[in-house]
Amino acid sequence: MSKVEPLVIIGSGPAGYTAAIYAARAQLSPILLEGSVTAGGALMNTTEVENFPGFQKGIMGPALMEEMRAQAERFGTRFITDDAVKVDLNGEVKTIQDGSGNTYLAKAVILATGSGYKKIGLPKEETLSGRGVSYCATCDGFFFKEQVIAVVGGGDSAVEEATFLTRFASKVYLIHRRNELRASRIMQQRAKDDPKIEFVWNSQVVDILGDDKVTGLKIKDTITGKEKNLELTGLFVAIGHEPRSELLKGQIDLDPNGYVIAKTGSTKTNIEGVFACGDLVDHVYRQAITAAGTGCQAALDAERFLASQGIFSA
Ligand code: NAP
Repeated sequence: MSKVEPLVIIGSGPAGYTAAIYAARAQLSPILLEGSVTAGGALMNTTEVENFPGFQKGIMGPALMEEMRAQAERFGTRFITDDAVKVDLNGEVKTIQDGSGNTYLAKAVILATGSGYKKIGLPKEETLSGRGVSYCATCDGFFFKEQVIAVVGGGDSAVEEATFLTRFASKVYLIHRRNELRASRIMQQRAKDDPKIEFVWNSQVVDILGDDKVTGLKIKDTITGKEKNLELTGLFVAIGHEPRSELLKGQIDLDPNGYVIAKTGSTKTNIEGVFACGDLVDHVYRQAITAAGTGCQAALDAERFLASQGIFSA
């Protein structure tokens, strides 16, 4: 049987890494399951982060995550580059199984699995994913040099992606279901000033055209109901995120949208010794800095819980 660890952290975005920095400095020597391919979380797919305090000139998303990881490692965090595939959170000793079949036992668990890309829900979206449909401009933008493409969404992600994609594409349609963007003013202005971006207002994508690869989109005017086709080769979906809470269903209290419910003013869940932070909990702020903040809270809550059990170090 494996040793019972004080603390296992699941997830490696700003929330998970910050929780690890605090817990490791508190001598808890946490184990952090960072994911098999997605280590670093959503910021690994971002370009420049301009609003994370401490970086006057901005910092690239992946560089920021590497710094956080290295800081957590410096104080003794043990990283497992694998996914948590099964958890049993009830009882005094929690069990976490990874994708390679290893089992970890822990007195306390911090859940920081973040969120994933929200899908439009069209049948072709799945089959043409990687064949013109993408959720990550920084990963795939390069493949669309001198091509006409579209971004769907009206938030900061969509506007940021559209602006970034003009480096490669000859033209970028920004398709939004309303006539007003949700994105911050500074990002909106940047997109509006960009001659390669054409806004397609009050429009919903109702079909993706093409069999082996994307050849166009059928869009519907949300006011008149009129449909028309746009000829293009790429579709970037940037319509928000959904919490990654699949693993937790049936074990922990989730809200109707799948977000973990934490007790007001803390990171405690309905299960003793289980704490949750970052985008897995927060559907309001969803910023790297707020995720990092709640990661810190989760580590402090876990530390206090472990101290109440007489555990002060690993
Ligand atoms: P978001 O703010 O939730 O925006 C999602 C957008 O997609 C909205 O405009 C929404 O339309 C649209 N949408 C949602 N479901 C749709 C559907 N089924 N079909 C068509 N359109 C749909 O998500 P986000 O842009 O990913 O941003 C998430 C958070 O990260 C925000 O807090 C944002 O500020 C932050 N962020 C910050 C930066 C930055 O500062 N550099 C960059 C990226 C993201 P409606 O507007 O009509 O609801």
